[in-house]
Amino acid sequence: LEAAYQFMVRVRLPGGVATPEQWLTMDEVADHYANGTLKLTTRQTFQLHGVLKWNMKKSLQKMNQSLMDTIAACGDVNRNVMCNVQPYQSETHAEVYNLSKQLSDHLLPKTKAYHEIWLDEEKVADSREPEEIEPMYGKYYLPRKFKIGIAVPPSNDIDVFSQDLGFIAIVEEGELKGFNITAGGGMGMTHGDTNTYPQLGRVIGFCPANKITEVAENIITIQRDYGNRSERKNARFKYTIDTHGVDWLIQELNERLGWELEEQRPYHFENNGDRYGWMKGDGKWHLTLFIQNGRIQDIEEQSLKTGLREIAKIHTGDFRLTPNQNVIIANVTEEKKSEINDLVQKFGLTDGKENSALRRNSMSCVAFPTCGLAMAESERYLPVLLDKIEDILKEAGLEEEEIVIRMSGCPNGCSRPALGEIAFIGKAPGKYNMYLGAGFTGDRLNKLYRENIGEEEILAELKPILFDYAEKKEDNERFGDFVIRAGYVEEVHSGLDFHNR
Ligand code: SF4
Repeated sequence: LEAAYQFMVRVRLPGGVATPEQWLTMDEVADHYANGTLKLTTRQTFQLHGVLKWNMKKSLQKMNQSLMDTIAACGDVNRNVMCNVQPYQSETHAEVYNLSKQLSDHLLPKTKAYHEIWLDEEKVADSREPEEIEPMYGKYYLPRKFKIGIAVPPSNDIDVFSQDLGFIAIVEEGELKGFNITAGGGMGMTHGDTNTYPQLGRVIGFCPANKITEVAENIITIQRDYGNRSERKNARFKYTIDTHGVDWLIQELNERLGWELEEQRPYHFENNGDRYGWMKGDGKWHLTLFIQNGRIQDIEEQSLKTGLREIAKIHTGDFRLTPNQNVIIANVTEEKKSEINDLVQKFGLTDGKENSALRRNSMSCVAFPTCGLAMAESERYLPVLLDKIEDILKEAGLEEEEIVIRMSGCPNGCSRPALGEIAFIGKAPGKYNMYLGAGFTGDRLNKLYRENIGEEEILAELKPILFDYAEKKEDNERFGDFVIRAGYVEEVHSGLDFHNR
């Protein structure tokens, strides 16, 4: 008898776009081979939890039949490429989405091992043949995982500054001209080790749209060659840049490219959240639904999983998984709109507008019970904490104030907590470090405000600050900006001063 080992399975889904058929496949796989729920992740893909070892192969084969795979969704390679999903920017979205797919495919490891092991394809190498070496990743792959995302201003929904490599689309007179390039973002750190820190990507220049793959490949090879391979905690690209400098990176990149990046071009972000409800763009309708922390399951008050399955059965457009773990039912025709609306009503799905603006801008990672790295609750606890913070917001008259709040169960930071205007990072069961002061558009890191506190202290700390904000905020002043102006925390200019006291 073998122990019932269970696994998390993460799909590669560039830009978070899935067809209705793919949605139905994931729904079925979740029921047959996992714990009956689907998790939409902060990197715009599906995660399955509780997949037993003897069901792994069957689940991957089923996904493969619907043209999905899990290649490079984990590991020290380029991960799922993120891409802006906003449907009101349809034409640019289509172009940028195609580039994200192109990037994802181009940066895949070339090994056939996945196909041989999971899909029963014929083995192409054996022990008598020379070792298989990856043309770009090389013999030892990258020192650490690598994350890429493409943003289309004014939306920074993908949190471009959190990516190892980010692209900011520059659209002039309706035409995609190219991308500003950001390098060296990353959220992870280790509690108590100030040599580790979250960092924002720095803008290093501009490239034309048709050069995006060439730029990405050359940047990845720089990290391959210079990244720290002796200290894993110091191996992400952000540390490589902070060790050698941004000017070094630009020079090294220009040399490898054989041409020079242009000066960055002006851009402007307005937020990093989602727009909920129905929107029209490019002659089609798009409905953004609120999915609390990305968990798709049927519960007493809401048949979310069943409802989305029924929608997938009649939907002729696509589904878009957002970087904030919500879902867009996109490209709905005028004729299908009322049918889909009926299903939304019937199964109790919601565009979240009945919730506070704080909850609509909330995000948590998975943490307990399925993440082995969790130090504290996150997905299961944030909604409970929000109930209590909402009481304070109501008293203070701030229910419609958009404030970005994030929680992670450990400092790996899967919910990008260093970019929350209010954020919590787990330290131990029931205890969190509390951070304040990130930029509303995802352009500034937050700062530690209180260490190792539980719910009672969290509420006691937050209440006077929220009341102070309600009373003294200037016109259009964001909460993250206010806590800095009011002196609750110091402004963080770079990851290098994240830990300064
Ligand atoms: Fe797990 Fe930590 Fe990521 Fe949360 S942040 S999902 S606890 S690794």
